[in-house]
Amino acid sequence: MPDSLKHVVIVGGGSAGWITAGTIAALHDSHSAQGIQVTLIESPDVNIIGVGEGTWPTMRGTLQKMGISETDFMRECDVSFKQGAKFSQWITGDKDDFYYHPLVLPQGYFDIDLFKHWQKNDQGKSFSDAVCFQEQLCEKGLAPKLISSPEYAAVANYAYHLDAGKFAAFLKAHCINKLGVKYLSDNVGRINTKDNGDIVSVNTAHHGDISGDLFVDCTGFSSLLIGKHFQIPFISKKDILFIDTALAVQIPYENGHDDIASHTISTAQSSGWIWDIGLPSRRGVGHVYSSRHTTQIDAESELRAYLQSTIGEKSQTVKFRKIDINPGIREKFWVNNCVAVGMAAGFLEPLEASALVMIELAATTISEQLPANRACMDIVAKNYNEQFCYNWDRIIDFLKLHYIASKREDTAFWRDNRNPATIPQSLQDLLMLWKHRSPCEYDFSRKREVFSAASYQYILYGMDFAFTQSNRVTTEQEDKMAERMFAENNNITEKYLQALPTNRELIAKVRDFGFSKV
Ligand SMILES: Cc1cc2nc3c(=O)[nH]c(=O)nc-3n(C[C@H](O)[C@H](O)[C@H](O)COP(=O)(O)OP(=O)(O)OC[C@H]3O[C@@H](n4cnc5c(N)ncnc54)[C@H](O)[C@@H]3O)c2cc1C
Repeated sequence: MPDSLKHVVIVGGGSAGWITAGTIAALHDSHSAQGIQVTLIESPDVNIIGVGEGTWPTMRGTLQKMGISETDFMRECDVSFKQGAKFSQWITGDKDDFYYHPLVLPQGYFDIDLFKHWQKNDQGKSFSDAVCFQEQLCEKGLAPKLISSPEYAAVANYAYHLDAGKFAAFLKAHCINKLGVKYLSDNVGRINTKDNGDIVSVNTAHHGDISGDLFVDCTGFSSLLIGKHFQIPFISKKDILFIDTALAVQIPYENGHDDIASHTISTAQSSGWIWDIGLPSRRGVGHVYSSRHTTQIDAESELRAYLQSTIGEKSQTVKFRKIDINPGIREKFWVNNCVAVGMAAGFLEPLEASALVMIELAATTISEQLPANRACMDIVAKNYNEQFCYNWDRIIDFLKLHYIASKREDTAFWRDNRNPATIPQSLQDLLMLWKHRSPCEYDFSRKREVFSAASYQYILYGMDFAFTQSNRVTTEQEDKMAERMFAENNNITEKYLQALPTNRELIAKVRDFGFSKV
């Protein structure tokens, strides 16, 4: 076929670039002469952002599809296990208020909605604790599996915390050495186009023009192709999600035996929140806040006060890296023969680690839907844009839910977040439904939803158990089934609490012995 797609050119070598390169190269056999050729160009002068440390369970499938050994990945990228997120001080702001968003679905999720049964009799337990064993595992710092579990297999569904810089370097080596991705370290400048607007080639400083059939913009906040070249408008979401600045820092452990948290800890502050991620060798901590609601000086002092409890007086002298964030997305992501992935396509605050999962989803969709030729490309692009506009909108709704379900009144940041003018209509509609019934699969019925109804339940009922007042009676049969499910959850919790090692113990064993290969 004369116009068949043979060569994909990716500009940018951060997580977006390498995940996209690896996913396409693995599926399309790039190291064979018949396969699709993949070239990645990375600027030697522009650093990767290097702060994305929290992932979703989808990452296990993404790595496995690229033929990566989980043991190698864990050893080389300073990886720990992540079993969800703990939100502290998000409900009322009291020091002891917290709730969990675990990664395991509620017990019997596809057969029964346990919410109304829990609401009738909560047995003194939080929603997530009553319906899912994972909160207890996290509270005890336990791992999600055993050293005898095969690679990527789970006892409890899990994701990872990782060192973003090491991850990009690890993927780069794997893509080049194992998957046949061609790599150029160079700056892309001029973009050469055809009359119809398609990109023919990108011009590099030292390697001349690099031509291709499909170009993937993974240039991060530079948004070189989709933004600067194609001038696709950027739609700000700052009126919905106010966070626009980050202060990040890496904190070494005081000693090599300190616990490694099995979950991301997110602690609400006066005008934002602090993330705390435990890796095997250090913690990654950062404060994201709204510059409209607080100053950098006040945000820094809140972060120092937070660090004081673990590192004492050293917290007064640590230096923070400031990162400006512009929350928003491109109006479309695929135009002509160019598609944007990662921060070039959009960025929202990292509250639920949704950036890397969106990159994985984009890379999978592009590789599985790779147009056979130019004639098919506009159809694929149209579907892609529709799907990804939907995905971004759902993530915006989901993140906003965390703020509006809060009862905090202490600062303008929290009060402004509940102003109806800042809440998307799609979320207002869902909230109206959820006053009378809990979130369910009818609300999120697409095959590739980023967050399932279970996630919405965990947030909503973690923060406000009385939000939903359903007047539908439960049948005797449902009541019995619910009792069985609650009992089953108690049994599984006890069993796993006895059987599972701590996060640190398992990570040490992976380093020493490795998992058995699948
Ligand atoms: C504070 C903060 C916390 C975050 N936390 C999380 C998290 O917990 N979980 C999560 O999923 N995500 C998180 N993210 C997002 C995550 O870090 C990114 O989505 C991810 O790293 C992908 O970045 P990227 O590859 O799109 O861009 P980058 O890492 O910025 O890479 C851009 C690449 O483009 C190249 N480039 C730029 N210009 C040119 C040019 N002219 N020629 C050639 N190459 C060029 C650069 O050299 C670089 O290689 C966070 C982001 C921030 C800001």
